[in-house]
Amino acid sequence: MRKKFNEKILVQINDELNKITSFNEIKKNKKIINKVIEISKRTNFSLSEKRKLFCKKCKNYFFPGKNCYIRVKNRNKIIKCLNCSYISRYKLK
Ligand SMILES: [Zn+2]
Repeated sequence: MRKKFNEKILVQINDELNKITSFNEIKKNKKIINKVIEISKRTNFSLSEKRKLFCKKCKNYFFPGKNCYIRVKNRNKIIKCLNCSYISRYKLK
């Protein structure tokens, strides 16, 4: 039951993320990211890997090489948002 529920949310989140097509549409993309975060909070759904797709601070959706800078150092993935300069770090498995 719970699994089915999660799948439904995932479909909904993917649907939202699919609406992001251009990095030029910053306002539209932020709105979508905020909606995705809202869905995950409301449903207690973990975004897990998907949270790496956008900036935690300004909710800028990352387009590698365009609005973010990605570097791998000491088994850490470092993503710098070129919109607000916030740096996210993720451990690589
Ligand atoms: Zn940012």
